[in-house]
Order: sequence, then C-alpha cells, then structure tokens
Amino acid sequence: MAEKMLKIDPHVHSNGISHCSHVTCEEIIDEKIRLGYDGAVLANHCQAWYYPQEEHGAFIERVIEDFARGKAYADKKGFRFYLGLEVTLDEPHYADWLLYGVTEDFLRKTPCLYTLTQKELFELCEENGVLLVQAHPFRQSPCDPNFMHGVEINCSDGDLDKIPLVEEYAKQHALLITCGTDYHFVERTYCGGVYLPESCHTAVDMAKYIREKGSVTVFYEGKDHEYAPARFVKK
Ligand SMILES: [Zn+2]
Ligand SMILES: [Zn+2]
Repeated sequence: MAEKMLKIDPHVHSNGISHCSHVTCEEIIDEKIRLGYDGAVLANHCQAWYYPQEEHGAFIERVIEDFARGKAYADKKGFRFYLGLEVTLDEPHYADWLLYGVTEDFLRKTPCLYTLTQKELFELCEENGVLLVQAHPFRQSPCDPNFMHGVEINCSDGDLDKIPLVEEYAKQHALLITCGTDYHFVERTYCGGVYLPESCHTAVDMAKYIREKGSVTVFYEGKDHEYAPARFVKK
C-alpha cells in the first residue's frame, strides 16, 4: 500500500519572531489542524531590519526557542512541525528565500544569513543539503535561476494571479515548485501546500525526500498539481 501522504503548509510565520505575524505557534497549529492540515514549516523572517548583524547568534537562539515551544505543542497534538527560515537578501535584488532542510546546528554555525548574496546562500545550502526556494518570486521578480532550487506558488491574496507566471518560470529553468500560504493571521484561511510522506519527521527528511524525487505534489484552490522533476534531481 502506498504510504500515507500528509498535507503540509511549508510557509507559516509566528509572532514570537516575525513582527508581521499575529499568531503564536500554538494558534497556527490549532488553526491548521482545523483546516485539515497535518503539518507546517515554521519559516520565520530573518532580515536586516530585525537586528544588527552582530546579534545574529542571539536572534537564532530565539528562532530555535520559539520553534521548540511550537514543536512540543505540535507533538502533543500529533501535528508535524518542521524548522525552516525565510531569509531576505538584497543581492542581486531584494528577495525572500525559503530554506527547507535546516537544522539547529546549521542555523548556529552559519554566518548572518541576510548579509549573503544569492550565490553565497545557495552554495551554503548546497553544502548542507538545504533547499533554497524563492518565495513569491513575482512580487518582485525572479532572481538568478542558476542559484536556486525552486520557486514558490504563494497562496496569499495578491499572489494567486501569479501562479501561471511561476509555473512557466519553473518549466523554463527546470526548477522545483513548492506551494505555501505565507500564513500570518488566523482570519486568513487560504488553502495550499505540499504533500509529504508520513516518513518525513524532520525538515531534513523533507529536503531529502524532495531532493530524491526532484518534485513535490502541491495543492491549491482545491486541486492537486504535479510538476516535472527539477534539474537538481539525482539521476
Ligand atoms: Zn511576514
Ligand atoms: Zn513569508
């Protein structure tokens, strides 16, 4: 029998870290369970206007602490909670980057991530088995397709009409497509996400699964969507 697939929202923000979020980890988990999800990736913001570079270490400890509290709550509810991060870079131009497959160790040992260029961040991700996905690439414009693993279909208000652009861009450059809701508020109930097998217990499992398959089944607007494997897939 095929393994059970879990509905995951790989892009949520908690107010313990993300200033723009109105929800705690516990509220996200309760609300996502109510909406029929089995899990979420906590991808809190890491950006220059949150803290000066020299406080990166302290910031990361707060990110880890907030996640750990959410994870403990999620475990009690039988909900999967994965560690992630959304880093804002200025090079080659302003853009947001979702990191899938990070560990606490990766976050502690890497330099202040928002100071890197896209190429530097991509190389760091490659060395550590992390997937680098440009969040909502058509809010600004897509960065260099050679230094990313994928692009995101973002299910928030202003982004749904950009789905065909994301699909076309991914096809053109053989990139991975992910889908997330960019969840910040309880009253926003956009539905979208990715399917992961039950065997994905951590963000590292998630990244490994996607790397081996080269793609992930996504869902949005009530339908499932399959895309061709990205060029990074192991042959
Ligand atoms: Zn935000
Ligand atoms: Zn976000």
